[in-house]
Amino acid sequence: SSSDGGVDRRERVQVVVRCRPLLEKEIADGRKSCVEVDPINNSVQVCNPKQADAQPKVFTFDRTYDSSSTQRQLYDDVAHHIVHSVMCGYNGTVLAYGQTASGKTFTMDGADDPPEMRGIIPNAFEDIFAHIQQSQSSDNFLVHASYLEIHNEEVRDLLAGPNSWVRLELRESPEAGVYVKNLTSVTVQSVADISRLLMVGKKSRSVAATLMNQDSSRSHSIFTITVETSARESTLPDGSMHIRVGKLNLVDLAGSERLNKTGATGDRFKELTNINWSLSALGNVISALVDGKSSHIPYRDSKLTRLLQDSLGGNTRTVMVANIGPADYNYDENVSTLRYANRAK
Ligand code: ADP
Ligand code: MG
Repeated sequence: SSSDGGVDRRERVQVVVRCRPLLEKEIADGRKSCVEVDPINNSVQVCNPKQADAQPKVFTFDRTYDSSSTQRQLYDDVAHHIVHSVMCGYNGTVLAYGQTASGKTFTMDGADDPPEMRGIIPNAFEDIFAHIQQSQSSDNFLVHASYLEIHNEEVRDLLAGPNSWVRLELRESPEAGVYVKNLTSVTVQSVADISRLLMVGKKSRSVAATLMNQDSSRSHSIFTITVETSARESTLPDGSMHIRVGKLNLVDLAGSERLNKTGATGDRFKELTNINWSLSALGNVISALVDGKSSHIPYRDSKLTRLLQDSLGGNTRTVMVANIGPADYNYDENVSTLRYANRAK
């Protein structure tokens, strides 16, 4: 297989599946599981509850996680190496995909308490600042963060306070690549600093959603951490510092539920069309990257893929966590999620 910079393409883009447990409510409703995860063989099997005699569908991924998987295990397996490479000046992206209530936010954010319930984002915060503390004092780190959401192909700054509903524009320049004009970027010194930003952004996301009568499951959110390292050891002959910049994108995607089932009309129809469009654009980009044969990667097809362009492909690392719920009524959506993730793989 082809490799580039010592890292195999297969290692640079990974697709894993995580199945959450049945929820208490689902158990109380007498729901049965239609999913079986085989973490040894990295496969997932789904049985059609309406056709008990039909062959189960089996899908294979880079890794699979059953309902007993822990937040720590997931972080260590899929996110730790990406965070590490960001500290070394590479870009990386972690994406959570799945229908609403499949566990995307649990995977990315988790719960604050107890600490074992923390998801990928807070674990990344801890990891980054622990790394900075442990590194030689001659290394100089500058960490900044931004937080935005994409709703209906419009970008909103979640750290702009009362201006968070203002639509921002994507711009492109030869030096900066694709960027969001006027996006707030805040320098942070500690886990407490960056955690506060996440909280502030989430609050403004939910306030804006309430004001506009929306649901956060209909937008993509991207928390971006940029780490600049200026190393004195590598001071160049002309006296200037050598600066490495790595960027980590932590993405909680909009719910992937499909149009036909919900019978949506009006604004909801438009939202779903946009969500379907951008998720399929993302799937096309990831599958083109994994495939490795395409000379054209269709980044330009959506705001999401344009924004992530410098952090998907090339010398970057990406992991997509496809989340599913095991209950029988999720069968159709699960097949659709597994097909999507399988194609991305
Ligand atoms: P989504 O963000 O995809 O809409 P959530 O992350 O909000 O879904 O999860 C839906 C519900 O399932 C929440 O109550 C969440 O706490 C619970 N849940 C999700 N994943 C897990 C898991 N791995 N273990 C336990 N509970 C989970
Ligand atoms: Mg969510």
